[in-house]
Amino acid sequence: DQLKYNDAILLYPALDRGHFLSMLELANLIATHHPSLSIIFLISTPPTPTTIQKQCLSALSTAAPSITFLHLPPVTLPADLHPHILCIELSRRSNHNLHQLLHSISKTSNIKAIVLDFMNSTAATQVTNRLNIPTYFYFTSCASSLSTILHFPTLHETTTTSFKDFPMQIQIPGLPRMSTDDYPDLTKDRESSIYRVFLDISKTMRDSDGIIVNTCDAIEARAIRALSNKEMNNKTPELFCIGPMISNTCENDEKGCLSWLDSQPSQSVVLLSFGSLGTFSKKQLKEIAMGLEKSKQRFLWVVRAEAESDNSEPSLNELLPEGFLERTKEKGMVVKDWAPQAAILSHDSVGGFVTHCGWNSILEAVCEGVPMVAWPLYAEQKMNRVIMVREMKVGLEVKEDKDGLVSASELEERVNELMDSERGKEIRQRIFKMRIGAVEAKDEGGSSRLALNRLVQLWKST
Ligand code: UDP
Repeated sequence: DQLKYNDAILLYPALDRGHFLSMLELANLIATHHPSLSIIFLISTPPTPTTIQKQCLSALSTAAPSITFLHLPPVTLPADLHPHILCIELSRRSNHNLHQLLHSISKTSNIKAIVLDFMNSTAATQVTNRLNIPTYFYFTSCASSLSTILHFPTLHETTTTSFKDFPMQIQIPGLPRMSTDDYPDLTKDRESSIYRVFLDISKTMRDSDGIIVNTCDAIEARAIRALSNKEMNNKTPELFCIGPMISNTCENDEKGCLSWLDSQPSQSVVLLSFGSLGTFSKKQLKEIAMGLEKSKQRFLWVVRAEAESDNSEPSLNELLPEGFLERTKEKGMVVKDWAPQAAILSHDSVGGFVTHCGWNSILEAVCEGVPMVAWPLYAEQKMNRVIMVREMKVGLEVKEDKDGLVSASELEERVNELMDSERGKEIRQRIFKMRIGAVEAKDEGGSSRLALNRLVQLWKST
């Protein structure tokens, strides 16, 4: 009953690094440009936070001081939950607490809107609908991937089979033609319960009051135009493209990557980094090492191995080919598990980026004008690859063999093509231009700033 706020905007992120930190940036952005709103950040609480979740929570101390953080009570979770559905389950189990909290805030405060992440959407919208709170989404991936989500219920009605059995070619307005092979794996088995969850998420997003997207015209003009003009159908809610926003909180450089980069020539180093969850088999790690060595390029490689069945933690020497670290020590730096990626990409010595195609990673590269090699691993990343390579044209793709392995020679060729070919040069020029457009969008009077103003006006008028 003591929770009293004027013109409150609630943000409820999923407790996943890319989603959580991006929504925190959104909160900062609103707090900075529209200080008359009360910004409240709602945080679900897992039984025991993982390392990544702890990183998320530690970032709260760097946020704008006017933001209020409200932590939901902890809930229990089944052991061994797949990391990709953990957030969905966490929000489902937090829903009762969410209801109580929102109910008590709404008794004393004037809630203008709530902004949800798609991962907590279906559970949370049951609460927000019941309490009559205008419900928006913040979509932390690209507008193109949003199009495919909004199109998903239509696609579901056009077939009765699973995409895993019968892949289909899909043409969505504003997007390059794409195969369902490029869709997230969790959507490929029609009989699975997670497929149903995705379908429900899609329908919930179609029915929302608006969707905020971390992108801008300079990055995805065609997809944004098609969505804004409702070319797909009339099921597209109003769109607010306020990006690109990147987060460089949690950037501690305890492994010395930045000082190593200081000693390297301008734009000479290829960064290899694969998101918060990307891991590789020992066989794949050895192929990468051999490919890098043969390419003779300078590199900074963040190595993360698949978990061992006995929970042991092999050293880099055990994971990589014999003598590799010694032979490449003049040209390469290898760190285990984690490096401050956004800060590394902003270093002048970095000239290329082999990425798993997470949208935050792509935006970090765009904001620094660093061309990419696309190596998608999980979630919607294969879709992002299609967009990054064929639509934005700011990356080259690596080809996997039929077992999903990328060979040493394939990696060697792509990295050399990126760093030393005419095609690589064109890509570099294109992403440099895109970077300028992205900066302009966020400036006073730019499209992203105007979209944010439009959104806030709408909130204030409700
Ligand atoms: N990241 C980092 N260091 C690493 C790996 C990842 O700082 O070693 C950051 C990266 O800069 C990005 C985020 O983690 O901001 C990953 O988000 P993205 O959307 O690219 O991928 P996800 O982890 O969600 O798959």
